[in-house]
Amino acid sequence: MPLLSVDEARERILSHFQPVKTESLPLGECLNRVLAQDIHAADDLPLFDNSSMDGFAIRAADVVSAAHASPRSLRVVADIPAGTSPTISLAEGEAARIMTGAQMPHGADSVIPVEDTDFSDHTAGTVAPENVQIFKVIKVGENVRSRGMDLHAGDTVLHAGRRLKPQDIGLLAMLGASEVMVYQKPRVALLSSGDELVAVDAPLEKGKIRDSNSYTIAALLESADAEVIRLGVAKDNFDSVKALFEKAVYLRVDLILSSAGVSVGAFDFVKSVIETHGNMDFWRVNMRPGKPLAFGEYRGIPFIGLPGNPVSAFVGFEVFVHPTVQKLGGLLNGGKPAVRVRSAEEINSDGRESYLRAEVHEENGILVAHLTGHQGSGNLHSLVQANALLIIPAGVKCVPAGQETTAWLL
Ligand code: AMP
Ligand code: MG
Repeated sequence: MPLLSVDEARERILSHFQPVKTESLPLGECLNRVLAQDIHAADDLPLFDNSSMDGFAIRAADVVSAAHASPRSLRVVADIPAGTSPTISLAEGEAARIMTGAQMPHGADSVIPVEDTDFSDHTAGTVAPENVQIFKVIKVGENVRSRGMDLHAGDTVLHAGRRLKPQDIGLLAMLGASEVMVYQKPRVALLSSGDELVAVDAPLEKGKIRDSNSYTIAALLESADAEVIRLGVAKDNFDSVKALFEKAVYLRVDLILSSAGVSVGAFDFVKSVIETHGNMDFWRVNMRPGKPLAFGEYRGIPFIGLPGNPVSAFVGFEVFVHPTVQKLGGLLNGGKPAVRVRSAEEINSDGRESYLRAEVHEENGILVAHLTGHQGSGNLHSLVQANALLIIPAGVKCVPAGQETTAWLL
């Protein structure tokens, strides 16, 4: 069994995956989906010069000497509500009442807010006055949102490989993209294995435990925007495991993910099923927690075998499966949000790359990390108490209190 660094193991796994197919979806269904096309603006935004205030569209040159004590009177020649396109052209000494978002009339170069005029009546439905007194000077362009100020026609505004956020959806709507090309969600078949496992709603007989990994890992997959196909629990025998793998083949999934049964000695049934019908790579990865990592393929479908211990399965998912699902889903620039934190205590490590459960909070502007609970790989509660995984690099045996290290925020 080769000993690989975490990076080597991850690179080896990722090299076997390509993004899944794309599909066209109505914009309203695109949140959190990964864009499969570059989006170019067909038009300028905004598309026309418009007012950013309720006020009067004027010519700045007409009010150069305006002040509260000596207001400048302008003749109001038009009333421009939002949603209309004015046809007039302002001449010297003229103004047009204008609402926020309404198109600027020709000839006007600025908007004086109602507050800076004698017509400060904000009540809806008021009729525009015949004349308006202007109390202030104004600069050309003030309170005008000019055409193309936000972006120009032809600009690439969103790149393929981006996970669409709410604000992206809004911009796509502004650009009239009613249908968007996105990557399909990767379909991942999930199975647990072990004779000790019972369903969450089943009675717990002596010696049994609940199949929690199915829930943790399904939730991780959903958080990573994968479609989860739950295959259930395989018994510790060849036929039971094979039956579930066959189901995954029948369902044409993009990845088969299992937990447990990959520790040396106890994993033979997974190993023999995969070796009989596919290929098995079995690596020791220089990390903790994390027993050996199983990677291979079953009748052409890639397979990753996570450890059974709940925390090891979680960490293995975050380190290896999360980037795999991201790559399958077409996401570029994925990865975990990493920050530098100071350890509150001395941490001893065995030289493997370690992922420790920690609670990170700010103290006087500095992020400080405290390890949580019992760090044994079966103790899920300590992971629940944590909000970060503290990463102790390979080769480091001791992190003194106060030293900086990297943490992934969960
Ligand atoms: P194994 O890899 O099969 O030796 O399992 C390692 C440890 O993880 C054992 O304590 C198992 O009982 C536990 N385990 C395995 N599968 C699950 C699961 N689906 N949910 C919770 N614990 C599990
Ligand atoms: Mg087992």
